[in-house]
Amino acid sequence: MRLRAAALCPRQSGNAEMTRILHRSIGGRLPQAAAGQGIFITDNDGRSYIDGSGGAAVSCLGHGHPEVMAAMRAQMDRIAYAHTSFFTTDVAEELAERLVALAPEGLDYVYLVSGGSEAVEAAMKMARQYFVEIGQPQRRHFIARRQSYHGNTLGALAAGGNAWRRAQFQPILPETHHVSPCYAYRDQRDGETPEAYAARLADELEAKILELGADEVIAFIAEPVVGATLGAVGPVADYFTRIRSICDKYGVLLILDEVMCGMGRTGTMFACEQEGISPDLVTIAKGLGGGYQPIGAVLLSDKVYRSFAEGSGLFQHGHTYICHPMAAAAANKVVELISQPEMLANVRMMGERLQAGLDARLGQHAHVGDIRGRGLFRGIEIVADKETKTPFDPALKMHARIKKEAMARGLLCYPMGGTIDGRIGDHVLLAPPYIIRPEEIDQIVERIGGAIDAAVRS
Ligand code: PLP
Repeated sequence: MRLRAAALCPRQSGNAEMTRILHRSIGGRLPQAAAGQGIFITDNDGRSYIDGSGGAAVSCLGHGHPEVMAAMRAQMDRIAYAHTSFFTTDVAEELAERLVALAPEGLDYVYLVSGGSEAVEAAMKMARQYFVEIGQPQRRHFIARRQSYHGNTLGALAAGGNAWRRAQFQPILPETHHVSPCYAYRDQRDGETPEAYAARLADELEAKILELGADEVIAFIAEPVVGATLGAVGPVADYFTRIRSICDKYGVLLILDEVMCGMGRTGTMFACEQEGISPDLVTIAKGLGGGYQPIGAVLLSDKVYRSFAEGSGLFQHGHTYICHPMAAAAANKVVELISQPEMLANVRMMGERLQAGLDARLGQHAHVGDIRGRGLFRGIEIVADKETKTPFDPALKMHARIKKEAMARGLLCYPMGGTIDGRIGDHVLLAPPYIIRPEEIDQIVERIGGAIDAAVRS
């Protein structure tokens, strides 16, 4: 029997007659997840799936991890909730200490929220308030990149450059400005070196800052490795060092959104470590709680923190569930486990194995344009014509077909595409848990290969 939950839930499916849950799209029907163990999810019909995308790059430790569950139970026995206007908690303090110890140089303070969009909203407001505090209230513009995703609340949606997600909300979105993403597969010109490409993009950002008024820009926001809208697209060499110096030149803050690519996903705790730069603010979520609790965070630099501490003495923001003790207890254990050197080494090793397996199975495939990514964060871009990189007709929803075929083969992969800015095609994202073993990587390769073959044939 189906649960008649009077809840609003944002994920797809739900036969309207069978459920009261408003899912992301109405109609169709998804299986009910019944149990999870390790890298597997079992549905109510007893079918088992490899969680090859960790949901949406969330389940970094897999399901049913005994140590995380024990930490949550212990916290539940002590106290589940205390409001931040009265109390802090040892678990929240410990989590903040742990994150700061792991973070890139200079990120010394932590603001704990309940998810990725909340983290992005908080980071944007922090950046704005920073300039108010230091006497530059005229700064009002945010610059982000096209084909990016930063969340679904209004501020975060405005920052995102995904035309399809923005379309019907455009009239009510705060104004945000966009420049090109760093997307070598499609945008690096023939004969252009990665360095020259990076320089071209940095010039574009500088031109945008000057167009808006150098002393009117608050921040530039970008994902170090783009997840949901491009499918694990990392920057070319030099890109972020150039971006960092352009921001510094004009006193613009750099916000890096590591909600999807952070927390060990790319093989280092923070993806930006691989770029050799430190942002002023970084947002994290997803892997921070590993799916055990909803949690997100903003890490901020001493410079930003001091502007509040020595200014108004308050960050003018807040939600009822910030610093939630249950979420902090789960995240504290998750971060302790994923930051172990052997865990991150497994992410890198299994990530290489996944890339090599995908290259071998799909590298010559007539409809696979690009296979890319870092660590256990890999994207496959599907095209109608490999030579010209022409996407499939969006009406075919090739990404959704692949997801369906993958599920039929017992694999979960995260699909996206078709209608983004009308110019890129379909991709699927693979982001399995960090505890995955070599033979399980090989199964993912085999199943996704079969799913792509079947989807493009159908
Ligand atoms: N930022 C990035 C880069 C994301 O990928 C996402 C979600 O996919 C978000 C922000 C929003 O996070 P949430 O869905 O937890 O609100």
